[in-house]
Amino acid sequence: MAGSPRVGVLALQGDVREHAALLAGLGAEVELVRRPAELHAVDGLVIPGGESSVIDKLSRLFGMQGPIRAAIDAGVPVLGTCAGLIMLADRLVDAIDGQESFGGLDVTVRRNAFGRQVESFEADLDVPDLGGDPVHAAFIRGPVVESVGPAASVLASLDDGRVVAVEQGALLGLSFHPEITGETRFHRRFLDRVAARV
Ligand code: GLN
Repeated sequence: MAGSPRVGVLALQGDVREHAALLAGLGAEVELVRRPAELHAVDGLVIPGGESSVIDKLSRLFGMQGPIRAAIDAGVPVLGTCAGLIMLADRLVDAIDGQESFGGLDVTVRRNAFGRQVESFEADLDVPDLGGDPVHAAFIRGPVVESVGPAASVLASLDDGRVVAVEQGALLGLSFHPEITGETRFHRRFLDRVAARV
């Protein structure tokens, strides 16, 4: 499949299959990534939703924290959704004791920010950078971007102003789950970044 971007989905925990299926549907060659050598064989990485404290622990156990940080520093495109956004944040609020992120996005992210009563909900978001129809977004015990540093920019906010999508260079972080609502534009944007870099 010459010409199709080769991308990985970090497959330590979370909704790996949904991302892999969506990316394959967009024509990408998809690898599940658990080991440093697998990371080095791809040109972009998706960090799925799941449980960020588990993804953190497993990434350290599998020797993946250092290689993923190095890839982010080197400009490898990364799309993080939900727990994946938490993993990309430079600063965390309400993390468990000792929890670490990979970092890369100059933002502060609060885990489980929506509280018990509305842990899960759906909302339509205007995302001017994507153009076209609003994004129908599913939030599942999602995080919120509490503050955005000068290096990052806001892609989408809820009606009340809370930031739920951010971008910084080749990094894209979303509080919600486009992979379960059939929303493909963020993954296309990620694949465009990969194609531009390869
Ligand atoms: N609450 C989860 C966490 O802290 C994220 C939820 C999700 O990814 N759907 O990692």
